[in-house]
Amino acid sequence: MILKTNQALAQRDLAVLWHPCTQMHDHETLPMIPIKKGQGVWLEDFDGNRYLDAVSSWWVNLFGHANPAINAALKDQLDNLEHVIFAGFTHESAIKLAEKLVEVTPIGLTRCFYADNGSAAVEVALKMSFHYWRNQGRPAKTKFITLENSYHGETLGALAVGNVPLYKETYAPLLMDVISVPSPDCYHREAGESWADYSSRRFELMEQTLQQHADTVCAVIIEPLVQCAGSMRMYDAVYLKLLREACDKYQVHLIADEIAVGFGRTGTLFACEQAAITPDFMCLSKGLTGGYLPLAAVMTTALMYQAFYDDYVKLTAFLHSHSYTGNALACRAGVATLEIFQQQGIIEKNRSLAQTMAKVAARFHDHPHVAEVRQTGMILAIELVKNKATLEPYPWQERRGVKVYQYALSKGVLLRPLGNVIYFMPPYIITEDELILLAEVAWQGIQHAVKE
Ligand SMILES: *Cc1c(COP(=O)(O)O)cnc(C)c1O
Repeated sequence: MILKTNQALAQRDLAVLWHPCTQMHDHETLPMIPIKKGQGVWLEDFDGNRYLDAVSSWWVNLFGHANPAINAALKDQLDNLEHVIFAGFTHESAIKLAEKLVEVTPIGLTRCFYADNGSAAVEVALKMSFHYWRNQGRPAKTKFITLENSYHGETLGALAVGNVPLYKETYAPLLMDVISVPSPDCYHREAGESWADYSSRRFELMEQTLQQHADTVCAVIIEPLVQCAGSMRMYDAVYLKLLREACDKYQVHLIADEIAVGFGRTGTLFACEQAAITPDFMCLSKGLTGGYLPLAAVMTTALMYQAFYDDYVKLTAFLHSHSYTGNALACRAGVATLEIFQQQGIIEKNRSLAQTMAKVAARFHDHPHVAEVRQTGMILAIELVKNKATLEPYPWQERRGVKVYQYALSKGVLLRPLGNVIYFMPPYIITEDELILLAEVAWQGIQHAVKE
C-alpha cells in the first residue's frame, strides 16, 4: 500500500513538481502541505490538520470548498457535456453565463468573450483595444497607460502592463514599452488628507499623461479600487470617475481589470459600480467560477463588437482563440456561482460581514509595528513596518510576512502574505467565530514575527 501522509506526499511532490511563484529551495525548510480535502472555509491535510483558508485559495474561492450547489451543478454538467469546440459550436451553460454576466455587469457591457485565465483575459482586452483602433483607421494607437504598483498577470503582455518590480524586472528586456503613471494608492496620503482628496489630487498626473499621449494610446488599464497583488493598496472611487471622463475626452479606452476585485470583493458586485462607470472592457476571472475551475471573461460594448463585424474578406475579425474557450464545466460553475449571489442576497450579507472583519481587526491599528489597517469591502490588509512613525519598512530580506505565514499555519490558519502585508480575503461563508480566530492567530503571528 502506498503511504499517504503529509511527508510521503510532500516528498513525491518535491521530486517532480515545480510550484508557481515559489523559490523551491524554501521547501528545504518550509513544509509543503498536501491537502486531502476541502470543506467550507477549511482545508484538511493528510495528517488530519485543518487550515482556515483566509486567502480564499489565492482569491478565487467565494462560497467555500465543496460547495453543495456548485458541486451538484457540476455533476449534472459532467453527465451531459464536459467540453466542445467553441468556434462554430456553442452550448447552454456558455450562453446562460454570458446572459447573466451581461445582466449583472455595468450597463452597456453587452458582449462576453471567454478565455481560460486572468492573464489571457488581459491579453484579449489589450489586443481588442489595439485592434479596434486599427479597424477604425487609427493604427498609430499602439501604447497602453498603466498605474505604478499595478498587477495584471504573468504572460508577456499582461506582465508588460503590470508594474510590480518583483515580478517584472527580470523580464523587462522582453516586454513592450508602456507608459506608467503614479498610483492613487492612499497609503502615501498626507496626514489628515481623505482618500478622496488624495486620489483626485493624484489624478492630475493621469490627466497630463492622457493629454500628452492620447494620439498614440489605445487604452488605460487599471485595477479598480484595490491593487491587490501590489500589497492590497487602495484608493477612492473618485479616481475611476475622473478616469472615465478623461478617457472619453481623449478617445482612449478604459480597461477595468476586475479579475481580483470582481464578484463582491470590494463590497459591490463589481468595483466599477462604486464610481457608477462602465469601462470599455472589463476583465473577469478568479471568483467567476466560485474558485472551482479556470475561466475568464472579457465583457465589452456593442460599439467594440460592431467595429469587428464585417465581411470576412475585410479581415477585421478578432482571430484570437484558446483551446478551452468557453469550457462547459467552467461555465456551469460560473452559472451556479452567480445563482448563489442572486438567490442568497450575498452582497447585502457581506455588508455586515465586512463590518465584523473591521471589528475583529480593530486592535491592529494601535500595534507598534502596524502602519495601517485598510479595508475595502471584503478585503482587509494590515501593513507591517519597522518604524510606525516614519513608515520605514522592514527590509524585505527579513521576510517578516513569511514568519507570520509559518506561525499561522502551525495554528491552523492559511494567511499567505504579500511581502510585509498580511491580509484577510476569506470566502464569504466565513462565520464571526472563524473571523475572531483568524484575527487572534494573525495577532499572535505578528507578535512572533516582529520580535527580533
Ligand atoms: C490574478 C490576477 C490576474 C491574473 O490572473 P491569472 O488567472 O492568475 O492569470 C490579473 N489581474 C489581476 C488584477 C489579478 O489579481
